[in-house]
Amino acid sequence: MTPDPFTPDPIEPAQTDPGQTSLEAIGWSIFFQSQLTSADGVPGRVASANHGRFLIWTATGELEAGVTGQLRKSGALWPAVGDWVLLRPGDPVIHRVLARKTKLARKQPEREIREQVLAANIDVLFIVSGLDRDYNPRRIERYLVMAAESGARPVVLLNKSDLAAELSLDLGAVVASTQLLSPAVTVIPISALSDHGLDAIPAQLAPGQTAALIGSSGVGKSTILNRLLGADRQSTTPVRESDSRGRHTTTTRQLFVMPGGWLLMDLPGLREIQLWAEANQSSGRLETTFDDIQQLAQKCRFRDCTHTSEPGCAVTAASIEPARLANYLKMQRELAQLDRKTDTKSAREGPSRSKPGNKTGRPYPKRDRLE
Ligand code: GDP
Ligand code: ZN
Repeated sequence: MTPDPFTPDPIEPAQTDPGQTSLEAIGWSIFFQSQLTSADGVPGRVASANHGRFLIWTATGELEAGVTGQLRKSGALWPAVGDWVLLRPGDPVIHRVLARKTKLARKQPEREIREQVLAANIDVLFIVSGLDRDYNPRRIERYLVMAAESGARPVVLLNKSDLAAELSLDLGAVVASTQLLSPAVTVIPISALSDHGLDAIPAQLAPGQTAALIGSSGVGKSTILNRLLGADRQSTTPVRESDSRGRHTTTTRQLFVMPGGWLLMDLPGLREIQLWAEANQSSGRLETTFDDIQQLAQKCRFRDCTHTSEPGCAVTAASIEPARLANYLKMQRELAQLDRKTDTKSAREGPSRSKPGNKTGRPYPKRDRLE
């Protein structure tokens, strides 16, 4: 059995199965179409993933599928929620994963240097933060870097705005300072509990586009999802499926068709969000979120300036908020370390680096510990 690297939090059952649908309605586009050759199989979208079993939406409805042994062994793309896959005609088995438009990934929170793809083909990434004790601009920055890496457009949702008064917070000031983290990013204060501001969420999406909710446990992701599903929400029982040993497991759906025809994906609370970047590509990774610092860094006297105590450092000379600078330096170190490790790894493994397999002979990472 191949453990899925991604175990969903249980969320309240809601309407998900689009039934008979056009593929465009669930995100299909020319980008995917152009990857097909004739006799390639039936395209479908991964709506949830659980221990190597997948819930797939096709033009004719929802079905459960596994993957072919060949795909398992080949080291080709492994399906993630949001992926477009090809099924064998008449046989619910995934034999190919189509190239992704966007990819939300993090480093597997284990010693091994391995990528964990959390979601594929996301257009808009809603970074959810609660205005209560969870509010942490450094964590939001980290999610912004992750979003920039993914290719999805980030939008920050500051939830629980109803608590601002109680917490003696000036909501306008918090929104403004969050906005300063990344001026180009939209910041929306909402209260899922009182429905305040929720209208602004669907306005970010066109029909057929896909969004995901990401944020720590308890920030209100499930509440937001259920509120947005609103009157269309239906109670459905979780899908029962058999794993490879014949046991029944329960799959929690993660992709939802929203009123208005866009799609929303719920991602479980992530305790650790270690950055992931492809080997040797980490240099520009922090650019989108920390453009000001990177611009200044070019004026430092030393090329390898660490922006800590060097003379002639343009970064420390500027008035960058110390906590923000520290967060930047931390993520930069993290990416540099990742680069070094992936370098060693590729040198060790030689040209067949993309082949799966590790010391334990598992083709894919062990199940992750999520909150
Ligand atoms: P998730 O773990 O991110 O899915 O968070 P949940 O949706 O389960 O919400 C966690 C808790 O926060 C629940 O007790 C919700 O009722 C509460 N909550 C969610 N949204 C709001 C909000 O806008 N205001 C307040 N005061 N509480 C909220
Ligand atoms: Zn410097």
